[in-house]
Amino acid sequence: MEVKYTPQGETGKTCADCKFYTPKPDNPGIGDCFGHEVEAKGSCNMFQPKE
Ligand code: SF4
Repeated sequence: MEVKYTPQGETGKTCADCKFYTPKPDNPGIGDCFGHEVEAKGSCNMFQPKE
């Protein structure tokens, strides 16, 4: 499936809210998602809420 990334996610559905997101310890605005660097405020169609 193609990942459709958007640099500005909807409130409550951003990478920061996603279970696949791991924020960088030195920069919480940037994080890792499956080995890719993404922005906390971004989002994509693979979004899954944190448990
Ligand atoms: S799966 Fe999508 S929404 Fe979740 S962290 Fe990765 S890029 Fe962001």
